[in-house]
Amino acid sequence: MTRFVDVHNMVRWVAGRGPETIISEMIGYLEDDFRRWESFDKSPRVASHTPFGVIELMPTSDHETYGFKYVNGHPSNPARGFQTVTAFGVLADVHNGYPTFLTEMTVLTALRTAATSGMVAKKLANPGSTVMAMMGTGSQSEFQALAFRAALGITTLRVWDTDPAAMEKFVRNVSPLGFEVTVASSAADAVRGAHVITTCTADKANATILTADLITPGVHINAIGGDCPGKTELDAAILELGDVFVEYTPQTRIEGEIQQMAADFPVTEFWQVLGDRAPGRTTSEQITIFDSVGFAIEDFSALRYVRDAVDGSNFFEEIDLVANPEDPKDLFGLVSVLSPIGS
Ligand code: NAD
Repeated sequence: MTRFVDVHNMVRWVAGRGPETIISEMIGYLEDDFRRWESFDKSPRVASHTPFGVIELMPTSDHETYGFKYVNGHPSNPARGFQTVTAFGVLADVHNGYPTFLTEMTVLTALRTAATSGMVAKKLANPGSTVMAMMGTGSQSEFQALAFRAALGITTLRVWDTDPAAMEKFVRNVSPLGFEVTVASSAADAVRGAHVITTCTADKANATILTADLITPGVHINAIGGDCPGKTELDAAILELGDVFVEYTPQTRIEGEIQQMAADFPVTEFWQVLGDRAPGRTTSEQITIFDSVGFAIEDFSALRYVRDAVDGSNFFEEIDLVANPEDPKDLFGLVSVLSPIGS
């Protein structure tokens, strides 16, 4: 049998445990997996592009456990009443290939993206950072805010979105959580005095959410919205102002902000910084840029974490996902018994 966490159980579990606690605990799982980065199978995700958006498969394996996520990205969805990003994910036993764990990953992707941003910022942002500019206040945004409080101590948010209703929703959701929130009048207004800037917008375009003149020394930029060919958020000149950190270079060159740059534009993979194999922030004036697109190992960590966290609880059910005849060679025997001729 395969353990299954549906949306109802995921929501119950997250609401009960608390998203900020979950993000903090998930950062531990992410760090464990990023520290053993070299032991994973890695490849750029498999993407199917259409005029509507993209559908992607994100596989990886540590040779004991295999995992993948199915995820879509459809920036025009909210205007049609659908979400931009939805997902589900699977873990399987490498020894026999059987799926062991299946879960919704729409909520989980928001948590894992936030946890990844938090893990990276903990290492790259200036210590003592308290103010974050939040550009784009859609589905991911509240999770990002909680991750930056958990990982870095962010208490003040300056928000900007082209959709006033999205900003209202954000203020409604995060104000009771104890943040000080200012609704900005423009992108330039939002970044004023910010120690960290998160860009989390969705538009299938080479957009310019931030221009180079808005970037001040010492800032950490957490650029997570540009994650697809032809979909970027930063003025290319920003990438020349500081040091760029990525998840998995071959995928980020296709999908990230650096798709705007030459193929040999220098970047550092974050696992090397975490493992003290490459420098991260070296001065308080340095501008650090996390060009995030989301990588399969992050989903693997999130899946492992939820699988372990719900063990022994009532937040999952067992489902009959794999046809398993008593005689492994007699698959037909299963259907011949149940399907008499003419019935
Ligand atoms: P969403 O559609 O719910 O929210 C996006 C918000 O961006 C909307 O409120 C929209 O009004 C706003 N926006 C669009 N253009 C803007 C602009 N020029 N200036 C200011 N605001 C603008 O999407 P979401 O689920 O929050 O995802 C946001 C982005 O993050 C998407 O592009 C998604 O693909 C990406 N994403 C990345 C990762 C990752 O791992 N890097 C993970 C999940 C989602």
